[in-house]
Amino acid sequence: MEDNDKRPRQSVILYLIIAIALLFALNSYIHPAGYQETQSVSYSQFLNMVDDNQVSKAQIDTSNNEITFVGKNNITYQATAFPDDSTLVQRLQDHNVDMSASIPNENSNLMTYMLLSYIIPLALIFFFGWLLNRRLRKSMGDTMDLSGSGGFGGGNLSRSSAREVKGQEVHTTFKDVAGQDEAKESLQEIVDFLRHPQKYAAIGARCPRGALLVGPPGTGKTLLARAVAGEAGVTFFQISGSEFVEMFVGRGAARVRDLFKEAKKKAPCIVFIDEIDAIGKRRDSSINSNDEREQTLNQLLSEMDGFDNQKGIVVLAATNRPEILDPALLRPGRFDRRIHVELPDLAGRKAILKLHANDVKMEPGIDLGVIARSTPGASGADLANIINEAALRAVRIGRSRVSQDDIQESVDVVIAGEKRKSTVLSEHEKQVVSYHEVGHAIVGAVQRKDAPVEKITIVPRTSGALGFTMQVDQGEHYLMTRKEMEEQIAVLCGGRAAEELIFHDMTNGASNDIEKATQIARAMVTQYGMTNDLGMVQLGRQTNRYLGGGEELVCSEGTQEKVDELVQKIVEQGHQSALKTLQENRFKLHEIARYLQKKETITGKEFMAMFTRDDGFAPKSVAAANPQS
Ligand code: ADP
Ligand code: MG
Ligand code: ZN
Repeated sequence: MEDNDKRPRQSVILYLIIAIALLFALNSYIHPAGYQETQSVSYSQFLNMVDDNQVSKAQIDTSNNEITFVGKNNITYQATAFPDDSTLVQRLQDHNVDMSASIPNENSNLMTYMLLSYIIPLALIFFFGWLLNRRLRKSMGDTMDLSGSGGFGGGNLSRSSAREVKGQEVHTTFKDVAGQDEAKESLQEIVDFLRHPQKYAAIGARCPRGALLVGPPGTGKTLLARAVAGEAGVTFFQISGSEFVEMFVGRGAARVRDLFKEAKKKAPCIVFIDEIDAIGKRRDSSINSNDEREQTLNQLLSEMDGFDNQKGIVVLAATNRPEILDPALLRPGRFDRRIHVELPDLAGRKAILKLHANDVKMEPGIDLGVIARSTPGASGADLANIINEAALRAVRIGRSRVSQDDIQESVDVVIAGEKRKSTVLSEHEKQVVSYHEVGHAIVGAVQRKDAPVEKITIVPRTSGALGFTMQVDQGEHYLMTRKEMEEQIAVLCGGRAAEELIFHDMTNGASNDIEKATQIARAMVTQYGMTNDLGMVQLGRQTNRYLGGGEELVCSEGTQEKVDELVQKIVEQGHQSALKTLQENRFKLHEIARYLQKKETITGKEFMAMFTRDDGFAPKSVAAANPQS
């Protein structure tokens, strides 16, 4: 920066002024009266004052024959005593003067005084200044671009604090991002532009200035942004939205300015603003609007208009709450491109698992396809975590390679939490949980034939689940019919239904099932228009789509009551259907539940073998539908 060498000097001056002011404040604190000059008087004058009762205190320095005394008027005087004046002590006593026998030598007195009131405070101030300075720099990122060295205090505060990575040092490329082909394709054009800006300039095309990566957390948005820089070989500035407004009021806008100033010098380059919703929130006129944030946003808007894009600056931003962004950010010329980075599908999950599996040592013949199938809804970060957890487990057990078991177990950990060894179920509780889980499994096996049971377990988990039944979709589903949703609800009701059927009672173990079933039923009514009573009308709006957010009803109160009624009806239908299925298969339910109670975990294959074994109780339809099992 041009003003690089001006800044430190400025701040030194500022700093000195502050130091001096502080010094005065401190000084008057330590010595309320200050260090007064003493007034010299003759010895006889001193004696006269004593006789007149005008002296309250006296200190006699016998080695120098000096008397320092304080008058009743609070003025300090000094006099040189006659040596060997033996009457002095008596005279002082007679007039009630407070005496001290020895008074510290004047020199050392001055020294102490100087030390106390100037040197120590000054040293302290410099020390704290240095500390503060260091902390500021640290909090602003170590690899920060500023060379601005010296300056004490606040000289560097307005720097952008972006982390800058030189082009050749970004090692992430598109190869490190598995799946997400559409996102990569959209970003490829930006890569091309950054590589050959003149090609675009020649034809007069304007390249997008900004692209917004939107998607749920952990899908690889940050990863993709880095990969663009890596592919293009350009400098990469990374800053998080919250960093703009983290520390001091009024700094956000200055930081944006500095960031873009720096970027213009390093062009072509990528400026990546992660979690942009922290500053890019819709400006509104509500009372609790945040001035600081708005100023920062305004600065960002004007910077994005301001740069001449022939040089090749591309601003990438990531968010998982696109709906709250200010519309001004999204208009053409700013973040006009929106790149969706969605949760990976089956093929994507497999690719991500494979990519991360390359980093760990695996036993040969591991089937990652099974893992991918059993993790619908998992993000890239979840999958990376599954592989890592598996590797950790292998180490814990003392193996040198990761086995299929390790991965399977870590899927359970990611889905349901660690096994909780401290929870010991009583035999009766185990029995209830067994019936509950087998209830789910049987309804699932009968009603949802495309999603075979993979595993049933009654080992308590740290998430609070006392057991779970895992059903795995065979293929990827993009559309779901009403019938499928109803079946799903029935399966969710299967646990409670089994409890009722066998024990004629219910437990609180079904709360999670109830929650999920209600969610599905509610969405059927309010969003998918799947009821005959209310028809195809939007009654609710999903909020916060990428963060698994809730739903906001957009209908009148009367309709809300109706919605509740219909939701109840749909769930109840599922409940009844589950009861019926279990009633029909109650012998199998008893048999398998007893087996599960003994074994604690059974595989889907074991379950299906028992369920379809032809002993006169096997359900005909299932046996026919699954001839292979
Ligand atoms: P986001 O920014 O979308 O929240 P990140 O980019 O920070 O997510 O991803 C977190 C981690 O998850 C990455 O470091 C990477 O290990 C893993 N990951 C996510 N998506 C992918 C993917 N598509 N391919 C490979 N790894 C991925
Ligand atoms: Mg991120
Ligand atoms: Zn359940």
